Order: sequence, then structure tokens, then C-alpha cells
Amino acid sequence: MLQIYDTKSRQLVAVPAADPVKIYACGPTVYRSVHLGNLRSFLLPDLLRAALASGGQAAVVVQNITDVGHMVDDTGLEAVDPDQDKMLRQAAQEKISALAIARKYEAQYLADLTALNVTIPEQTPRASETIDSMLEIISRLIELDFAYQAEDGSVFFSAKKFPSYGAISGNTLDQLKPGHKFDGEAETTKRFHGDWALWKATDERRTQLTWETPWGTGFPGWHIECTAMSLGAFGDQIDIHTGGIDLRFPHHENERAQSNSLTGAEVVSSWVHAEHLLFEGRKMSKSTNNVVLLTDVMAAGISAAAVRLVFLENHYRQQLNLTWDSLVAAEQTIRRWSDQLTGPLNFDAELKTEISAHLLNNIDTAAAVLALRAKEKQLAKSPELRANAIATAAGLLGLSLVSEPIEVTAELKKLIDERSSARAEKNWQLSDKIRDQIAEFGFEVNDTSSGVQLRRAIVPPRA
Ligand SMILES: [Zn+2]
Repeated sequence: MLQIYDTKSRQLVAVPAADPVKIYACGPTVYRSVHLGNLRSFLLPDLLRAALASGGQAAVVVQNITDVGHMVDDTGLEAVDPDQDKMLRQAAQEKISALAIARKYEAQYLADLTALNVTIPEQTPRASETIDSMLEIISRLIELDFAYQAEDGSVFFSAKKFPSYGAISGNTLDQLKPGHKFDGEAETTKRFHGDWALWKATDERRTQLTWETPWGTGFPGWHIECTAMSLGAFGDQIDIHTGGIDLRFPHHENERAQSNSLTGAEVVSSWVHAEHLLFEGRKMSKSTNNVVLLTDVMAAGISAAAVRLVFLENHYRQQLNLTWDSLVAAEQTIRRWSDQLTGPLNFDAELKTEISAHLLNNIDTAAAVLALRAKEKQLAKSPELRANAIATAAGLLGLSLVSEPIEVTAELKKLIDERSSARAEKNWQLSDKIRDQIAEFGFEVNDTSSGVQLRRAIVPPRA
């Protein structure tokens, strides 16, 4: 049975014996491409799925697509500024509609998941298509006196009505300082600085993504979206809720307060969070101009499988300092492993048992990869058994070792043939010269026992 670290109880807990296990994963706000730091968090439900499979349990993953209501400032402590919706800001920048932005980046996100060999979640509900159930939930929270309508038509959750607020993050209400903009003069209609908007009133300044409601025209808050989509998919009980560590507060605290108040029960059994990723020692963020996308890495000749491998080599609860060097090393490992998978393969039952035990121990992927590396050394003189071990581990860890097919242009084909002729004539000088010409196309050639092998050259950008 899988043991997992629950952020709220701050200890390892056993996942319920449910089959399938219900997993809700906080998804992307689709206003721009997700970067590697985001992808590390979005890999977590897939790792949970693999770990559960090791213990014989299936998983159902639901991941929301946020396409409205996520503000530039997501602390909820500042005044509501309808101009600061991330979707609308990007729509203005790209000069297309907010929903066109949403569909564009949602498709990119799903393509990134596919490249990383992540099983696409069974459901990916969109916030903009879940408005009706948000309105029902907000009405019910007002009826139950957990929420109130303010003078401007916004609806706020009354934080003080939920005594265990802060249980996940430790940010209890008495520690919550008023936002620095909240000084009595700021334009906000909430009663207490810890309250947050479930529904945000707006006016004609906002021309997209607004809905008519009993409280007037407006749009939903980010936190109520996840309550509506998680309860909508799973009813009132969810086994595991995942997200990046930065979502602990306020997003998950607010979601928990809403969902528990509505149902009168503890909805989520375990909260599981992935730690931050640094890139070359710095936080990955647009403001520090330190953003790397999966497509950037792949353009450098490094496969998505190598990215997945680096993520696996670092436990999800440890901060990871990703570097170009570590990505290059991982790509070399992926190539070394995939080169060995020739001939018929058999299962390595011993290694499977070992890796499964690591995965069931709080998804210890780092130990699982080390187990494969140890086995590889141990079987140094047995290529067939070594190939079995590699294939077995790759299957359990979701590492795709099949290289992407390369489109060989006529020009490239001609060079490869010329080089083969030069080698046949033992004209090494010419064959080296042609090798350099091939490199200019971004490829490297290797001569193997089964013929010429063409590969993408690894060319990481250097600062
Ligand atoms: Zn969420």
C-alpha cells in the first residue's frame, strides 16, 4: 500500500484502499506556456499513478484548466481589480480573445504532458464551462452563512467562519497580516482582510469572461473554481489533492474552507505538494527572466524523457536545482539506455519488486533510479539481462526510451551516403569533414554494429 506525505497532518499516511484512488490535481492557468518548474508539479499526479499501480491500485485523475478568474495577485489580500485577470491581460497583449488564448495554451499544455509521457488526466474540466455549479455553490455558502454579498455585488467567503483555516500551511487567521494595500482607503468591500472573493463584481470595463448572476455581472474567484470542479467530479470525498508547494496558501486553504463548509465534512484525505524547482540556481519566473520551456530543452537536442529522468532523480519533496549540465547528462543516460534495448526483452522481476517498494515509500523515484543504476553496474557483463533491467525500470517509471523519428532530408541523406563511401575507402579526412557538415544540420552520426545511427546533436545554450 502506498505511503504518502500529507502536508496537512505533516506525516506519512497510508492511501485509502480505494480502487480507483480519486486524485484531484490543481491544473494550469492557461494564459501562457507552462515552464519546467510548473511541469515538475504537473508530473506529480502521474508519479502517484505509477506508485499506486505498483501497489495494485488504479487512479482517476481530474485536473482543472483555469481559464478565468486567476488574478495577477493571487493572495486574495488586495483589493479586487478586474483588469488584473491573467487571461485578459494576455489576450490584450496577443490581440485575440481570452478564450482563444485559453484554447491555445491548453493545447500546448496537453502536448507538453504527452511529450513527458504523462497519462492525460481522465477529466480536464474548464473553469469557464463550470460557472453554473460555481453559482450554485456560492448561493449555498451564502445560505449557510459562510459567505456574504458586499455592497458592490462581490461575494466574499467569511474566513472567520471556518475555525480550522490555516491547517495545511500553518497560516492561521491571527497570523494573517492585512495586505499592504489594505489600509482602509483601498477600494475593497470585504469585512475582514482574510476574506476572499468567491464572485467578483465587475462593470463594462471588463468586456470578456463575465456572467450575469443574482448578484450582478461578474466573474468567479480562482479558489471557488477548484471547489466546483473537484466536487463536481468526485462528490464530497477526494483521496489525494496535489499541487505545487506555492499553492498551499492561499489557494488550498481557501479551497478547503469552501469545500468543507459546503459539505460539512473533511473533503480531501491527503494534500500532496511538489517542491520548487530552481534553474541554474535561480527561481524560474518571468520576472527574473529565467524561464525555460520544454520546447526550449527539446530544441537543444535533449529529449522530454531526459527531463522526466532528471525530475525522477530528485524526490518530489526536495527542491531541485536543474541545470543545463544535468539535462545533458540525463540525455546521455537516456541514449545509453535506449541503445541497449536491442533484441527480445524479458521482465526483471527482482528489479520490479525493488522499484515498486521505493515507489510505495512516498514515491521515492530517486531511489528507484539508483536501483536501476546499481543493477546496470552489477550486470555489466550481461548485456541481455542488463537490457531487461533497463526496460523493466523504464516501464515502471514512465521513461520512453524510443527515440523520436528523425526526418532525413535528401540533402542529409546524400551527406550520410558520401560519408559511408569515404569510410569504405578509408578516407578518414573526408569522412570527418562530412561529419562536420552533418553537424551543421544539428545532427551527429555514430557508426554502430547495425549501421549508421543519426541523432540530434546536444547543443545546450550557454549563458
Ligand atoms: Zn486549484
